Amino acid sequence: MTRTNIRLNGRGVAEGTAIGRAVVAVREARQVRYRLAAGRVDRERQRLRSARAITRSQLEEISSRVSRTVGQAQAAIFAAQLLMLDDPMLADRVDELIRTERINADWALERAISELHTVFAREGDAWLRERIGDLADVGGRLQQNLRPGRDPLVSLVQELDGPLIVVADEVSPSIAAQLDWTKVRGLVCDVGSPTHHTVILARSLGIPAVVGLGSATQVILPGQTVAVDGATGEVVVEPDHDALERWKQRADVAAVALRKLDELRGIPGATADGVRIRLEANLEIAEEVGRVLDVGAEGIGLYRSEFLLDRAPATGGVSEDVQYETYRKLLGAMAPRPVTIRTFDAGEERWERLGHTQGHRERFGLRGVRAALQHDARFRVQIRALLRASAHGHLRILLPFVTSAAEFRQARALIAEVARGVPGVTEVPIGAMIEVPAAALTADRLARDADFLSVGTNDLIQYTLAIDRTDERLSGHYEPREPAVLRLLRMVATAGRRANRDFSVCGEMAADPLLVALLVGMGFRAFSMTPAALPVVKRSLRAVNARQAEKIARLAVTADAAEDVHRLLAPLADAMHAAVAVAAG
Ligand code: PEP
Ligand code: MG
Repeated sequence: MTRTNIRLNGRGVAEGTAIGRAVVAVREARQVRYRLAAGRVDRERQRLRSARAITRSQLEEISSRVSRTVGQAQAAIFAAQLLMLDDPMLADRVDELIRTERINADWALERAISELHTVFAREGDAWLRERIGDLADVGGRLQQNLRPGRDPLVSLVQELDGPLIVVADEVSPSIAAQLDWTKVRGLVCDVGSPTHHTVILARSLGIPAVVGLGSATQVILPGQTVAVDGATGEVVVEPDHDALERWKQRADVAAVALRKLDELRGIPGATADGVRIRLEANLEIAEEVGRVLDVGAEGIGLYRSEFLLDRAPATGGVSEDVQYETYRKLLGAMAPRPVTIRTFDAGEERWERLGHTQGHRERFGLRGVRAALQHDARFRVQIRALLRASAHGHLRILLPFVTSAAEFRQARALIAEVARGVPGVTEVPIGAMIEVPAAALTADRLARDADFLSVGTNDLIQYTLAIDRTDERLSGHYEPREPAVLRLLRMVATAGRRANRDFSVCGEMAADPLLVALLVGMGFRAFSMTPAALPVVKRSLRAVNARQAEKIARLAVTADAAEDVHRLLAPLADAMHAAVAVAAG
């Protein structure tokens, strides 16, 4: 009998509840596991046969080329690999696993390779042990040929019927951007953090997500029913009738709360004492603009254009015309409201669609405006597309990862040069993202050259505190209330106000009502956040007295520690809770 109600607890990072069948993905989602319905077995066996045929012809071709150009001895390596391909312990075993255990070919192959690996490693024979490398090579090639040119998780989800729950060790943003989220209802990850781009995307699409479960991919079996609560971080595997009822109740309560929030839709953002606050939304997938309009956002404060690269069919970027169409539609859908489009903030890995990141190289390397200035051909293409589209609405261009005023001026000059080649283009405001301490510390200089400043707290916190924002082991230290972070934020607010420039916050800090109140106390009057957070922030602000927030903010920047700031914020938290209780009746 299968065990029911296995409970796992992780960190809830995207609110909402979901129930679906598990698709398990490991090795950064490059290997996928799923149980087959009876009718799918033959198709899966056929997939294996074609993968084998492609692999055979590739190996024969390589073998004859190597034999011609390098020598017979070297070509023998590939002859050995061809033999391995026909070894009954490989292909026949995969076929057997598909038939008897009804598992997808990718998973069956993974299992057969692991069995063979154990045999080879155990053998006393050195020759056989050396074949382990060849096994990995042939296995990898077969694996790739099972889904030629396609990302395994993306293609598996496409084949299956929903609702599905993706259970993964981790999912890169470029894979996440390509998934069919109408079928995937929930995300459960062994690792992860609230500011990882995959999680940001899930939140933005309203997909419940729980991360940091450690071993979800080992505990949850493919095909099992999984219930996810993205607020509490609870995951229940094979929920029984009572557990399913509880989940349904949670969904009903959430739906009622949402309807109540909807009443605020047409009301502008403001504090209890009448200070006007502009509330905009962040967007990752342009086609999802409806979510931004649904919550009554006053504009798009951050469109993360690099997600376009992830969704493009091939590597190497997106054409000017495809970009133009995307921007034009987005501007048109939002008009006359402003749309702030951030130029690609992508390192080499994302440009080349490697599907994984080299960590520090991605974070500290050639990214943002720095990369734009080095590969200026791609930057020029994007700027041309943006300027061409600008006639269709209210465009603002935002440059990411700026570190100095000189760098900003260089990018600005390049934009002006591109603009001279675009007929009839009018002036478009160009802003700087403040997301590295160097930019915050020189915000007064940047405010002279930039038309507006937008603070990216996700990165600003990471670089100020030297805490990798995607490393869940450090999540307790990733702390927006740290006085060092608050001082930098205050510097930006002061610089923006003195230079009479528009300044706002678009990092995840802007989605936390209490932190928004603190930022209002520092002088910020505009925020951009994930769409679902907007009504919640709007309601909370109505309970906040801006004068009181100012006093608290003054004390907060001179506090010793984040805990002190937490205590200082207590009166604002109480006011917000009281308002929520009244609204709930
Ligand atoms: C930020 O760094 O706060 C930000 C908004 O940009 P991203 O999360 O895309 O790095
Ligand atoms: Mg950033």
